[in-house]
Amino acid sequence: MNATDATELQFVVVMDGEATDDHVEDVLECLSRAGARGRVAPGRDTTMIGAIGEQGLLARVALDERPGVARVLPVSKPYKLASLDASPEQTVIQVRGRRVGGDAFALIAGPCTVESREQTLATARAVASAGATMLRGGAFKPRTSPYSFRGLGETALAILEEAREETGLPIVTELLDPRHMEAVVQIADVIQIGARNMQNFLLLSEVGRCDKPVLLKRGPSASIEELLMAAEYILKEGNERVILCERGIRTFEPSTRYTLDVAAVPVLKQETRLPVIVDPSHAAGRRELVPALARAAVAAGADGLLVEVHPDPDTALCDARQLLATATFPEFASEIEALAALMGKAFG
Ligand code: PEP
Ligand code: MN
Repeated sequence: MNATDATELQFVVVMDGEATDDHVEDVLECLSRAGARGRVAPGRDTTMIGAIGEQGLLARVALDERPGVARVLPVSKPYKLASLDASPEQTVIQVRGRRVGGDAFALIAGPCTVESREQTLATARAVASAGATMLRGGAFKPRTSPYSFRGLGETALAILEEAREETGLPIVTELLDPRHMEAVVQIADVIQIGARNMQNFLLLSEVGRCDKPVLLKRGPSASIEELLMAAEYILKEGNERVILCERGIRTFEPSTRYTLDVAAVPVLKQETRLPVIVDPSHAAGRRELVPALARAAVAAGADGLLVEVHPDPDTALCDARQLLATATFPEFASEIEALAALMGKAFG
């Protein structure tokens, strides 16, 4: 999209939740008087109107004051809603009394995959008592090989629910497919969209229409701009609660599973108001590297960490090499808490 092109999209008018059809009509008339066109995109909670026309003419239309208009966003950035231009204030996301964003740091910990009730409850208890702020655990797992363990599905969701009841920790779990939406939404407090699905645009729109925060992981081959455009799909449907997650990208370097793009943290912070967290586990692929990458992430300004933890990592059915042992987690958590404090953040 080229904002200087005479007949390109110049800005987006976001109507407020109370706006009526007459308010939308009024905006369209204002645009038409300026020799421009408005393209209406209705959403569940908000309607948006794209203003297409000549930049010079449109610059003179004052739409901010019209009834029903919440915001007028310039399209200097293709990710209009995720952009800092849209709202300079950091987004703080509340989840069952926990917070992430601003000065609130999220330590999200738990097994890669829910394997059994015992393994999940043992992990949940351990990470809760060490200060974790949310529990992660995969019920539906994306696996490279179709012969690998692909999760316990709905049975795992019930186990996660039990873990939440006991520990009070909000649940973060992945949604792989819109067909699982109903089951996942019932249990999840935060819906994870995995790296492989970052550009599954139908799935993104789907979670954009639900009322749960979304943890969106960067695809291993996706640019930062593509990550922001993926977030835009969710925001555009009216779901404002998106957490971005850097989890390593694919490079030529074979000594780690992926290459953690630490620079993505400050770059994203410059571009967006959304919380940015880091997953050092999938990036490292090796547990002995996880603490160092986690520290780097906190020092780079991350708003949280997503870390895989297991009571007996060597027996794990998924991602065994990268799981931190529950026994070592308290020390890890207290180191992260101290470092987060140096960065002006406290566990939320
Ligand atoms: C996970 O969090 O367990 C996972 C599968 O991560 P990713 O989508 O980043 O590979
Ligand atoms: Mn994993």
